[in-house]
Amino acid sequence: MQEWERSSTTRVVPPARPRKLAKVPFAELADGRLQGVVSSGSDIERVYVSSVAAGSYAFTCSTNNNRPCGGARGSFCNHIRALLAEAVLQYGGERVARYLKVEVTDEEPTAQAITEAMTATRPEQGDASTAAPVFSRFLRHLAYLELPPTTAPLPEMQWFPPTRAVV
Ligand SMILES: [Zn+2]
Repeated sequence: MQEWERSSTTRVVPPARPRKLAKVPFAELADGRLQGVVSSGSDIERVYVSSVAAGSYAFTCSTNNNRPCGGARGSFCNHIRALLAEAVLQYGGERVARYLKVEVTDEEPTAQAITEAMTATRPEQGDASTAAPVFSRFLRHLAYLELPPTTAPLPEMQWFPPTRAVV
């Protein structure tokens, strides 16, 4: 019997090759966190799942194999900083700061200003159990890239109204 015949779940294989992805292939403001996937600078096969919680700025960073990130002891690692920089590009500084409840004086704060405001509060390390769902959402997000181009609506996506990811 094959493994897939015995198992109730099938192994998830990323449909896109990691080397085709940019530094931060996935970033979202969802579940009260900024969360996303950051490519390893040194190993093309490895990615990190990083997150920062709104309000508390509790942070997590671990690899897709659930190994804790060595850089994220005590403060934000480079992956979390890269995620913040990418989120500011994607959503704008004002929206990222508002979502994370960061007090900044600038109307359109830079990623650096937001990062500094958060690290100044000496945030705690958060619960790393959030990494698995974030990573599976990333794989799902990649799966949509594999669909043939079409102008017809994707019924599956209608379960998730676009307003869900933002405040
Ligand atoms: Zn890290």
